[in-house]
Amino acid sequence: SGGLGLPSFLILLNEWRASSFIPMIYFTVPILWSPLGDDSLGKTFETRDPRNEEVIARVAEGSKEDIDLAVKAARKSFDHGTWPRMSGYERGRVMMKFAKLIEDHIDELAVIDSLNCGKLLRFTKKNEIPAGVHILRYYAGAADKIHGDTLKLSGEFHGYTLKEPIGVVGHIVPWNFPTPLLFLKVSPSLAAGCTMVVKPAEQTPLSALYYAHLAKLAGIPDGVINVVTGFGATAGAALCSHMDVDKISFTGSTAVGRLVMEAAAKSNLKHVTLELGGKSPVIVFDDADVDIAVSMAHNATFFNKGEFCASGSRIYVQEKIYDEFLKKSVELAKSTVIGDPFDPEVQQGPQIDKKQFDKILGYIEYGKNEGANLLTGGKSYGNKGYYIEPTIFTDVQENMKIAQDEIFGPVMALMKFKTIEEAIEKANATSYGLVAGIITKDLNIANRVSRSVRAGTVWINCYFVLDPSCPFGGYKMSGFGKCQGMEALDEYLQVKSVITPIYSSPW
Ligand code: NAD
Repeated sequence: SGGLGLPSFLILLNEWRASSFIPMIYFTVPILWSPLGDDSLGKTFETRDPRNEEVIARVAEGSKEDIDLAVKAARKSFDHGTWPRMSGYERGRVMMKFAKLIEDHIDELAVIDSLNCGKLLRFTKKNEIPAGVHILRYYAGAADKIHGDTLKLSGEFHGYTLKEPIGVVGHIVPWNFPTPLLFLKVSPSLAAGCTMVVKPAEQTPLSALYYAHLAKLAGIPDGVINVVTGFGATAGAALCSHMDVDKISFTGSTAVGRLVMEAAAKSNLKHVTLELGGKSPVIVFDDADVDIAVSMAHNATFFNKGEFCASGSRIYVQEKIYDEFLKKSVELAKSTVIGDPFDPEVQQGPQIDKKQFDKILGYIEYGKNEGANLLTGGKSYGNKGYYIEPTIFTDVQENMKIAQDEIFGPVMALMKFKTIEEAIEKANATSYGLVAGIITKDLNIANRVSRSVRAGTVWINCYFVLDPSCPFGGYKMSGFGKCQGMEALDEYLQVKSVITPIYSSPW
C-alpha cells in the first residue's frame, strides 16, 4: 500500500494550485507504489483549473499495464481476500467509518472538486460531498440486508437463492460530479462485497485519489479499491476489454457507452450498466405559477453550468403563458452572476475545459445557423477561463441539432405547445429518455403525462431531486441499469439457485 499523502494534498489546497505537485496513482498493492507518482511507464498528464486555465497538478497517466496490475490486485482480493467474505454487518461498519472520515475532510474535498471542476464552492461543501457521504451511509446500512428467497418447488424439493457479489467491477466515472458519481458506484459495490478498479475522468482525477487514501485509513483492505488515473481511450478501454473484470459500471456519454458495450461483448461478455446522456424535457402547463415555473426551468437548465446529465434543456411552455414565461426567463438568465466559483455571490462558474467550452459555443453557432432565435447570451464571458453566458433560444424546431443533441452547457431551448397530446409527443421526440419535468397544479395532467413520457425519472413541480433510496437511470439511449436505491445494489449481485431434496435423495 502507500499512496497519496494527505499532507501533500493540504499543501495543494493551501496554495490552491501547485504545478510541481504530482499526485500518484493510488494503488492498494505494495508493488505499485511509486514515490514519484508515475505510472508504470512514467508518464503524467496535466489537470487544469477551469477558472484560469492554469495547471493545478500533474497526475499519473495510467496505461494498459497499470490497469492490468490493478485488476490483478482486485482479483486477488476478491478470490482470496477478506472483504467479500466478511459479514455484511462488518462491511457496513467499515463503510460507516469511511463516511465519517470524509466528513472530517469535507473542507479539503470541497475545494478539490471546486478547483478541479469549476463548481460553486458553497455547493460542493453543502451538497456534493455530503451527498457522497449520504450515499455511502445508505449502502453501509444495506450491507447486512442482502438475502435471497426460499422457494417451494414442485416435487419434493426445497430451493433457495443466494445473492453473491458479482466479482471485480470496473467503475468509469465522468467529470461533472466527481464525488457523488464516484460514490453512486463505489458504495453499492462495496456493500455487495465486490472489489473494484476505479477510472476517474481525466479532467477531474484529484478527489478520487483522496478518497482512496481515506478508504485505506477507514480499514478497507488492500486491493478492494484501486484507482487508476488516466485517459478513456487507453486506461478506460483497457478496463472494458479486460478478461478478468466481471462488470463495468459506466457513467458518461452515449457515444462512449456504445464502445463500452462493444468491448464487453468482444471480451468476456462482462455485465454492463450504462448511465448515459440526456436531452430532457420540462413541460410547463398554463395553470402553473409563472414565477415559480420560470425559476424551476432556469435551474433545470443552468444548474452546474448546464453540465449535468439531467439538464432540462428543452423547455415546453403552453401557449397562454408562453410570452410572459419567455420574458421572465430572459430577465432571470441576464441577472445570473457569472464568475469565480469560490466567490459566495457567484451563481455560475466556468465550464470544465476548453474542449467543452468550444463544443458549447459550436452548438450556439449551429442554433443561429439553423434559424433558431437567440434571445440572450450566446457568447463567452470575460477574457480568461471557460465562462459562457446563460443562453436562451426560441423558435427551435424538433429536428434542429440544438433540440436533439446533448449540449451539456448553459443553453436553453424554449418551445411553445398547445395541447397535452402535443406536449407528450414533443417530449418523447428524442433518442434519450433520462428524466422529465412537469409543472402543473392539475393532478390529472401530472399523472397522465408522467405515465406517458419515456424517461427513467419524472419530477412533478420539482427538479433534480435525488435521494440514495430513489432509483435513478435512463430509458432508451440514456442507458440501462439503476444507480441509487436497492436496485443499484442488485446491479452488483448475482443470484445463485440452490436445490435440495426435502426428504432423502431420490438418487
Ligand atoms: P465521456 O463519455 O467522454 O467520459 C466518461 C468516462 O469515460 C471518462 O472517465 C472517460 O475517460 C471514459 N472513457 C472515454 N472513452 C472511453 C473508452 N473508449 N472506453 C472506456 N472509457 C472511456 O463523458 P464525459 O464528457 O466525461 O461526461 C459527460 C457525459 O456523461 C454526458 O453525456 C452526461 O449526460 C453523462 N452523464 C450521465 C449521468 C447519468 O447518471 N446518466 C450522470 C453524469 C453524466
